[in-house]
Amino acid sequence: MQRRDLLKFISVAPLVGGAVGNKLSASPAKAGAYGAAGRDLFKEFGIRTFINGRGTITAMSGSLMHDEVLDAIKGTSRKFCMLDEAQDKIGAKIAELCHAESAVVTSGAFSALTLGLAGVLTGTDEEKVRQLPHLEGTGMKSEVICQRAHDITYNHAFLNTGCKIVMVDTVEELRNAINEKTALLFFLNINADRGQIGHEEWIKLGREYNVPTLIDMAADVPPVENLWRFNDMGFDLVCVSGGKAMRGPQSAGLLMGRKRFIDGARLSMPPRGFNIGRGMKVNKEEIFGMYVALEKFINEDHDKVWKDWEDRTAMVADEVKKVAGVTTEVTVPKLGNVTPNLHISWDEQRVALTGQELAERLRNGNPSIEIVPARGSKVWLTVWMMLPGEEKVVAKRIREELTKATVA
Ligand SMILES: *Cc1c(COP(=O)(O)O)cnc(C)c1O
Repeated sequence: MQRRDLLKFISVAPLVGGAVGNKLSASPAKAGAYGAAGRDLFKEFGIRTFINGRGTITAMSGSLMHDEVLDAIKGTSRKFCMLDEAQDKIGAKIAELCHAESAVVTSGAFSALTLGLAGVLTGTDEEKVRQLPHLEGTGMKSEVICQRAHDITYNHAFLNTGCKIVMVDTVEELRNAINEKTALLFFLNINADRGQIGHEEWIKLGREYNVPTLIDMAADVPPVENLWRFNDMGFDLVCVSGGKAMRGPQSAGLLMGRKRFIDGARLSMPPRGFNIGRGMKVNKEEIFGMYVALEKFINEDHDKVWKDWEDRTAMVADEVKKVAGVTTEVTVPKLGNVTPNLHISWDEQRVALTGQELAERLRNGNPSIEIVPARGSKVWLTVWMMLPGEEKVVAKRIREELTKATVA
């Protein structure tokens, strides 16, 4: 639910207004302006909107773009420019900000994986670009090496180039797996603590055999330093999502790294056709929007943002703990989606409700709220993607449902 929707909702829902009204009622003009300025297309189509307590989930439309990003999109939508010129100039600036030789805005991290590998396979040979994804008899390499612990669904992105993925567990297996067909050594940051081979050793092995290394760190900002850490470390290619924590366009991402590979990847991208990437189009508005999101994210006071998340998380915890038998715990994932997660559990003898039931009641309530049900009498949520004030609505609703289910 957008802030403006929340405001609108408050104006017709005194019940919830009581929880968040004080802070937000200072700008009633905004609520009115929304009604006058445009159509409520969600309402027109009967599409459910909700307060997002789950984080950046693609199926839930990811993240909400910052106003600055929306302004950039709208502002750049009034004029034409050459797509390549936008990618050249904005890519150069992104590369500079992230300590890479070169960069390009892709349609998400997934396409960055496909296009990055395409760039490695073809280089700037246009004949090879046209041949993908048929590698046999072309002289192109055809294998990507991946640690078994780093094998997740998104790795399908590599198969789109015609390559196959070879799984290894140990350094010895990797050494045995490398051959003249090996195109790439792939590393998945979110599972960095699971594989036997770490970042630095992965890069070292790549250099030893002269095979490029690529890291998928799609969901690994914050911390913001990760935007340049893996370029500094020596990965040849780095792939990031633009529509997760950075809150750029949901269909944008970054491919950064060695210029020769990015130059190659660009040949598999629009505006050129006759390639595997013509369908992975990024328009100029998204390129500018991605840049503004990145710039904003880099310049943000991340300590302040973190403190804000902690405060809002504590607010929800304090409110729900007012129900007898309820306990809370805050955890922070070590890798990926690094934000405070609030776990709420309760004594089943005192509150007759499962986590699944609570999640359903919140989803079916007004406003609709999405949190994560856990097994038994437990749920978890994050205030990460909630707009200011929404956490109060969430706290109040959870307390309400837990109180209702309290056994007398
Ligand atoms: C989200 C994610 C992707 C896909 O990113 P998009 O920007 O949605 O294309 C790839 N890899 C990992 C590890 C992810 O978390």
